[in-house]
Amino acid sequence: RAKDAGRGVFRTYEPELHVQAEERRVLEMALRSAVEKGEMFLMYQPVVDAGSGHLRGFEALLRWTSPEFGPVSPDKFIPLAEDARLIAPIGAWVLRTACEEAATWPSNIRIAVNVSPDQLQNPNFVTTVTSSLASTGLSAERLELEVTESVFMHEGLGATKVLERVLDLGVRLSLDDFGTGYSSLGYLSRTRFSSIKIDRSFVQDAAKGVREAVAIIRAVVALANSLGMATTAEGVETEAEHQMVQEFGCTKVQGYYFGRPLPVEEARALAGRRWDEFAAA
Ligand code: C2E
Ligand code: MG
Ligand code: MG
Ligand code: MG
Repeated sequence: RAKDAGRGVFRTYEPELHVQAEERRVLEMALRSAVEKGEMFLMYQPVVDAGSGHLRGFEALLRWTSPEFGPVSPDKFIPLAEDARLIAPIGAWVLRTACEEAATWPSNIRIAVNVSPDQLQNPNFVTTVTSSLASTGLSAERLELEVTESVFMHEGLGATKVLERVLDLGVRLSLDDFGTGYSSLGYLSRTRFSSIKIDRSFVQDAAKGVREAVAIIRAVVALANSLGMATTAEGVETEAEHQMVQEFGCTKVQGYYFGRPLPVEEARALAGRRWDEFAAA
Protein backbone atom coordinates (compact mmCIF):
# COMPACT_ATOMS: atom_id res chain seq x y z
CA ARG A 1 0.00 0.00 0.00
CA ALA A 2 2.80 2.38 0.89
CA LYS A 3 4.44 1.47 -2.39
CA ASP A 4 1.35 2.52 -4.36
CA ALA A 5 1.62 6.00 -2.90
CA GLY A 6 4.97 6.54 -4.61
CA ARG A 7 8.67 6.20 -3.98
CA GLY A 8 9.07 9.04 -1.54
CA VAL A 9 6.32 7.75 0.72
CA PHE A 10 7.61 4.19 0.62
CA ARG A 11 10.79 5.14 2.49
CA THR A 12 8.88 6.58 5.46
CA TYR A 13 7.00 3.30 5.95
CA GLU A 14 10.07 1.14 5.73
CA PRO A 15 11.14 1.10 9.40
CA GLU A 16 7.70 -0.05 10.55
CA LEU A 17 7.54 -2.80 7.96
CA HIS A 18 10.98 -3.85 9.08
CA VAL A 19 9.90 -4.12 12.72
CA GLN A 20 6.87 -6.20 11.76
CA ALA A 21 8.99 -8.55 9.68
CA GLU A 22 11.51 -8.79 12.49
CA GLU A 23 8.79 -9.52 15.06
CA ARG A 24 7.37 -12.21 12.83
CA ARG A 25 10.77 -13.79 12.34
CA VAL A 26 11.50 -13.88 16.05
CA LEU A 27 8.03 -15.20 16.96
CA GLU A 28 8.31 -17.83 14.28
CA MET A 29 11.63 -19.02 15.68
CA ALA A 30 10.09 -19.34 19.13
CA LEU A 31 7.04 -21.10 17.68
CA ARG A 32 9.24 -23.77 16.11
CA SER A 33 10.15 -25.27 19.45
CA ALA A 34 7.04 -24.25 21.44
CA VAL A 35 5.39 -27.69 21.46
CA GLU A 36 8.51 -29.64 22.40
CA LYS A 37 9.32 -27.15 25.15
CA GLY A 38 5.86 -27.63 26.64
CA GLU A 39 4.83 -24.01 26.11
CA MET A 40 1.52 -24.93 24.51
CA PHE A 41 -1.60 -26.14 26.27
CA LEU A 42 -5.31 -26.46 25.63
CA MET A 43 -8.22 -24.72 27.28
CA TYR A 44 -11.69 -26.26 27.03
CA GLN A 45 -14.83 -24.18 26.52
CA PRO A 46 -18.23 -25.71 27.39
CA VAL A 47 -20.77 -26.28 24.60
CA VAL A 48 -24.27 -26.49 26.00
CA ASP A 49 -27.69 -27.64 24.78
CA ALA A 50 -29.67 -24.47 24.09
CA GLY A 51 -32.94 -25.78 25.49
CA SER A 52 -31.96 -27.75 28.58
CA GLY A 53 -28.63 -26.14 29.44
CA HIS A 54 -27.06 -29.61 29.62
CA LEU A 55 -23.38 -29.87 28.85
CA ARG A 56 -22.81 -31.48 25.45
CA GLY A 57 -19.09 -31.09 25.04
CA PHE A 58 -16.10 -28.81 24.97
CA GLU A 59 -14.17 -26.98 22.27
CA ALA A 60 -10.41 -27.28 22.61
CA LEU A 61 -8.71 -23.90 22.24
CA LEU A 62 -4.97 -23.70 21.84
CA ARG A 63 -2.86 -21.44 24.07
CA TRP A 64 0.79 -20.48 23.81
CA THR A 65 2.67 -18.85 26.64
CA SER A 66 6.16 -18.03 25.49
CA PRO A 67 8.76 -17.42 28.22
CA GLU A 68 10.06 -14.57 26.05
CA PHE A 69 6.82 -12.95 24.82
CA GLY A 70 4.25 -14.04 27.38
CA PRO A 71 0.81 -15.23 26.24
CA VAL A 72 0.41 -14.92 22.46
CA SER A 73 -3.13 -14.88 21.04
CA PRO A 74 -4.11 -17.73 18.70
CA ASP A 75 -5.35 -15.09 16.26
CA LYS A 76 -1.71 -14.09 15.99
CA PHE A 77 0.22 -17.36 16.21
CA ILE A 78 -2.10 -19.66 14.22
CA PRO A 79 -1.67 -17.66 10.97
CA LEU A 80 2.06 -17.51 11.69
CA ALA A 81 2.17 -21.28 12.18
CA GLU A 82 0.29 -21.72 8.91
CA ASP A 83 2.74 -19.50 7.01
CA ALA A 84 5.75 -21.24 8.55
CA ARG A 85 4.36 -24.69 7.74
CA LEU A 86 4.25 -25.51 11.43
CA ILE A 87 0.51 -26.03 11.63
CA ALA A 88 0.65 -29.74 10.74
CA PRO A 89 2.85 -30.77 13.69
CA ILE A 90 1.13 -28.32 16.06
CA GLY A 91 -2.30 -29.46 14.88
CA ALA A 92 -1.33 -33.10 15.33
CA TRP A 93 -0.30 -32.34 18.91
CA VAL A 94 -3.63 -30.55 19.53
CA LEU A 95 -5.64 -33.44 18.14
CA ARG A 96 -3.76 -36.06 20.11
CA THR A 97 -3.90 -34.06 23.37
CA ALA A 98 -7.59 -33.22 23.02
CA CYS A 99 -8.54 -36.86 22.27
CA GLU A 100 -6.46 -38.07 25.19
CA GLU A 101 -8.27 -35.71 27.54
CA ALA A 102 -11.74 -36.37 26.13
CA ALA A 103 -11.21 -40.11 26.62
CA THR A 104 -11.23 -39.46 30.40
CA TRP A 105 -14.68 -37.77 30.28
CA PRO A 106 -18.09 -39.48 30.41
CA SER A 107 -18.90 -41.00 27.04
CA ASN A 108 -21.70 -38.56 26.19
CA ILE A 109 -19.39 -35.55 26.30
CA ARG A 110 -17.86 -34.60 22.93
CA ILE A 111 -14.69 -32.78 22.02
CA ALA A 112 -14.44 -30.24 19.19
CA VAL A 113 -11.05 -29.49 17.65
CA ASN A 114 -10.28 -26.63 15.25
CA VAL A 115 -8.56 -27.61 12.02
CA SER A 116 -6.81 -25.21 9.64
CA PRO A 117 -7.32 -25.51 5.88
CA ASP A 118 -3.57 -26.17 5.57
CA GLN A 119 -3.88 -29.28 7.73
CA LEU A 120 -6.34 -30.72 5.23
CA GLN A 121 -3.81 -30.25 2.46
CA ASN A 122 -1.48 -32.66 4.21
CA PRO A 123 -2.06 -36.24 3.02
CA ASN A 124 -1.09 -37.50 6.49
CA PHE A 125 -4.02 -35.75 8.12
CA VAL A 126 -6.35 -38.76 7.97
CA THR A 127 -3.66 -40.93 9.56
CA THR A 128 -3.20 -38.32 12.29
CA VAL A 129 -6.90 -38.52 13.08
CA THR A 130 -6.99 -42.32 12.96
CA SER A 131 -3.99 -42.71 15.22
CA SER A 132 -5.22 -40.08 17.70
CA LEU A 133 -8.42 -42.08 18.09
CA ALA A 134 -6.72 -45.47 18.16
CA SER A 135 -4.05 -44.55 20.70
CA THR A 136 -6.44 -42.81 23.08
CA GLY A 137 -9.39 -45.16 22.69
CA LEU A 138 -11.76 -42.26 21.99
CA SER A 139 -14.67 -43.33 19.81
CA ALA A 140 -14.86 -41.46 16.51
CA GLU A 141 -18.36 -40.08 17.05
CA ARG A 142 -17.16 -38.18 20.12
CA LEU A 143 -14.72 -36.18 18.00
CA GLU A 144 -15.92 -33.16 16.07
CA LEU A 145 -13.63 -31.26 13.73
CA GLU A 146 -14.32 -27.57 13.18
CA VAL A 147 -13.42 -26.17 9.78
CA THR A 148 -14.14 -22.76 8.31
CA GLU A 149 -15.53 -21.85 4.91
CA SER A 150 -12.00 -21.02 3.73
CA VAL A 151 -11.37 -24.77 3.44
CA PHE A 152 -13.50 -24.77 0.31
CA MET A 153 -11.42 -22.12 -1.39
CA HIS A 154 -8.79 -24.84 -1.85
CA GLU A 155 -11.27 -27.39 -3.05
CA GLY A 156 -9.22 -28.19 -6.11
CA LEU A 157 -6.44 -29.34 -3.83
CA GLY A 158 -8.51 -32.11 -2.33
CA ALA A 159 -9.76 -30.81 1.04
CA THR A 160 -13.20 -32.19 0.26
CA LYS A 161 -11.76 -35.67 -0.31
CA VAL A 162 -9.90 -35.53 2.98
CA LEU A 163 -13.09 -34.43 4.76
CA GLU A 164 -14.95 -37.36 3.17
CA ARG A 165 -12.37 -39.82 4.47
CA VAL A 166 -12.58 -38.32 7.94
CA LEU A 167 -16.39 -38.52 7.85
CA ASP A 168 -16.11 -42.17 6.85
CA LEU A 169 -14.26 -42.80 10.11
CA GLY A 170 -17.40 -41.65 11.93
CA VAL A 171 -15.93 -38.31 13.01
CA ARG A 172 -18.29 -35.31 12.96
CA LEU A 173 -17.71 -32.05 11.15
CA SER A 174 -18.89 -28.59 11.97
CA LEU A 175 -18.68 -25.41 9.97
CA ASP A 176 -17.09 -22.72 12.15
CA ASP A 177 -17.60 -18.93 12.02
CA PHE A 178 -20.35 -19.37 9.47
CA GLY A 179 -21.14 -16.27 7.45
CA THR A 180 -17.81 -14.52 7.91
CA GLY A 181 -15.94 -16.10 4.98
CA TYR A 182 -16.49 -16.59 1.30
CA SER A 183 -19.87 -18.20 1.59
CA SER A 184 -21.00 -20.45 -1.17
CA LEU A 185 -23.92 -22.63 -0.29
CA GLY A 186 -22.89 -25.42 -2.67
CA TYR A 187 -20.55 -27.11 -0.26
CA LEU A 188 -23.21 -27.16 2.46
CA SER A 189 -25.19 -29.65 0.43
CA ARG A 190 -22.11 -31.62 -0.62
CA THR A 191 -20.47 -32.04 2.77
CA ARG A 192 -22.09 -33.87 5.67
CA PHE A 193 -21.77 -31.29 8.41
CA SER A 194 -23.35 -32.17 11.74
CA SER A 195 -23.62 -28.56 12.69
CA ILE A 196 -23.18 -24.98 11.62
CA LYS A 197 -21.63 -22.57 14.09
CA ILE A 198 -23.10 -19.10 13.79
CA ASP A 199 -20.36 -16.54 14.26
CA ARG A 200 -20.37 -14.40 17.37
CA SER A 201 -20.59 -11.20 15.31
CA PHE A 202 -24.15 -12.11 14.20
CA VAL A 203 -25.21 -13.07 17.71
CA GLN A 204 -23.93 -9.82 19.14
CA ASP A 205 -25.37 -7.63 16.38
CA ALA A 206 -28.73 -9.38 16.65
CA ALA A 207 -28.72 -8.74 20.39
CA LYS A 208 -28.19 -5.04 19.66
CA GLY A 209 -31.26 -5.13 17.44
CA VAL A 210 -29.51 -5.10 14.05
CA ARG A 211 -32.30 -6.41 11.83
CA GLU A 212 -30.04 -7.85 9.14
CA ALA A 213 -28.23 -9.95 11.74
CA VAL A 214 -31.55 -11.26 13.04
CA ALA A 215 -32.63 -12.12 9.50
CA ILE A 216 -29.36 -13.93 8.81
CA ILE A 217 -29.53 -16.03 11.98
CA ARG A 218 -33.12 -17.01 11.25
CA ALA A 219 -32.21 -17.94 7.68
CA VAL A 220 -29.19 -20.00 8.76
CA VAL A 221 -31.25 -21.88 11.35
CA ALA A 222 -33.94 -22.62 8.73
CA LEU A 223 -31.31 -23.73 6.22
CA ALA A 224 -29.57 -25.97 8.79
CA ASN A 225 -32.91 -27.49 9.85
CA SER A 226 -33.83 -28.33 6.30
CA LEU A 227 -30.42 -29.92 5.71
CA GLY A 228 -30.69 -31.92 8.95
CA MET A 229 -27.87 -30.02 10.64
CA ALA A 230 -27.70 -28.57 14.14
CA THR A 231 -26.78 -24.94 14.84
CA THR A 232 -24.47 -23.61 17.51
CA ALA A 233 -24.64 -19.94 18.48
CA GLU A 234 -21.14 -18.69 19.30
CA GLY A 235 -20.23 -15.88 21.69
CA VAL A 236 -23.34 -15.89 23.88
CA GLU A 237 -22.39 -13.58 26.74
CA THR A 238 -25.67 -12.73 28.49
CA GLU A 239 -28.94 -14.27 29.59
CA ALA A 240 -30.74 -12.03 27.08
CA GLU A 241 -28.57 -13.35 24.23
CA HIS A 242 -29.24 -16.91 25.39
CA GLN A 243 -32.98 -16.32 25.32
CA MET A 244 -32.73 -14.70 21.91
CA VAL A 245 -30.82 -17.55 20.23
CA GLN A 246 -33.07 -20.10 21.92
CA GLU A 247 -36.02 -18.31 20.44
CA PHE A 248 -34.33 -18.42 17.01
CA GLY A 249 -34.16 -22.19 17.42
CA CYS A 250 -30.40 -22.64 17.75
CA THR A 251 -29.61 -26.16 18.98
CA LYS A 252 -26.50 -25.46 21.01
CA VAL A 253 -24.87 -22.46 22.58
CA GLN A 254 -21.36 -21.51 23.52
CA GLY A 255 -20.01 -18.34 25.09
CA TYR A 256 -18.84 -16.61 28.24
CA TYR A 257 -22.36 -16.78 29.69
CA PHE A 258 -22.03 -20.58 29.94
CA GLY A 259 -18.33 -20.67 30.57
CA ARG A 260 -15.03 -19.25 29.44
CA PRO A 261 -12.37 -21.58 28.11
CA LEU A 262 -11.34 -23.61 31.19
CA PRO A 263 -8.07 -25.18 32.29
CA VAL A 264 -7.98 -28.95 31.83
CA GLU A 265 -8.71 -29.86 35.49
CA GLU A 266 -11.74 -27.58 35.66
CA ALA A 267 -13.13 -28.96 32.42
CA ARG A 268 -12.64 -32.48 33.73
CA ALA A 269 -14.50 -31.67 36.94
CA LEU A 270 -17.35 -30.10 34.98
CA ALA A 271 -17.53 -33.05 32.57
CA GLY A 272 -17.95 -35.41 35.50
CA ARG A 273 -20.81 -33.49 37.09
CA ARG A 274 -24.41 -34.48 36.65
CA TRP A 275 -26.43 -32.49 34.12
CA ASP A 276 -28.90 -31.07 36.58
CA GLU A 277 -26.03 -29.80 38.74
CA PHE A 278 -24.51 -28.04 35.73
CA ALA A 279 -27.79 -26.51 34.63
CA ALA A 280 -28.40 -25.23 38.15
CA ALA A 281 -24.92 -23.74 38.58
P1 C2E B 1 -13.00 -20.13 17.08
O1 C2E B 1 -12.75 -21.55 16.74
O2 C2E B 1 -14.16 -19.47 16.43
O3 C2E B 1 -13.13 -20.09 18.66
C1 C2E B 1 -13.97 -19.22 19.36
C2 C2E B 1 -13.21 -18.05 19.90
O4 C2E B 1 -14.13 -17.15 20.54
C3 C2E B 1 -12.19 -18.41 20.99
O5 C2E B 1 -11.13 -17.47 20.90
C4 C2E B 1 -12.99 -18.21 22.26
O6 C2E B 1 -12.19 -17.99 23.41
C5 C2E B 1 -13.78 -16.98 21.90
N1 C2E B 1 -15.04 -16.88 22.65
C6 C2E B 1 -15.84 -17.88 23.10
N2 C2E B 1 -16.94 -17.40 23.71
C7 C2E B 1 -16.86 -16.06 23.64
C8 C2E B 1 -17.71 -14.98 24.12
O7 C2E B 1 -18.77 -15.18 24.71
N3 C2E B 1 -17.30 -13.71 23.85
C9 C2E B 1 -16.12 -13.44 23.20
N4 C2E B 1 -15.79 -12.17 23.00
N5 C2E B 1 -15.30 -14.42 22.75
C10 C2E B 1 -15.67 -15.72 22.96
P2 C2E B 1 -9.61 -17.93 20.95
O8 C2E B 1 -9.43 -19.04 21.93
O9 C2E B 1 -8.79 -16.69 21.11
O10 C2E B 1 -9.37 -18.55 19.52
C11 C2E B 1 -9.43 -17.75 18.37
C12 C2E B 1 -9.40 -18.59 17.12
O11 C2E B 1 -8.14 -19.23 16.98
C13 C2E B 1 -10.43 -19.71 17.10
O12 C2E B 1 -11.70 -19.22 16.74
C14 C2E B 1 -9.82 -20.62 16.06
O13 C2E B 1 -10.13 -20.16 14.77
C15 C2E B 1 -8.34 -20.43 16.30
N6 C2E B 1 -7.84 -21.57 17.09
C16 C2E B 1 -7.85 -21.75 18.43
N7 C2E B 1 -7.31 -22.94 18.77
C17 C2E B 1 -6.96 -23.54 17.59
C18 C2E B 1 -6.36 -24.80 17.24
O14 C2E B 1 -6.06 -25.67 18.09
N8 C2E B 1 -6.14 -25.02 15.90
C19 C2E B 1 -6.48 -24.13 14.94
N9 C2E B 1 -6.22 -24.44 13.67
N10 C2E B 1 -7.06 -22.95 15.23
C20 C2E B 1 -7.30 -22.66 16.54
MG1 MG C 1 -13.92 -23.15 16.61
MG1 MG D 1 -15.94 -19.85 15.76
MG1 MG E 1 -13.07 -17.74 15.04
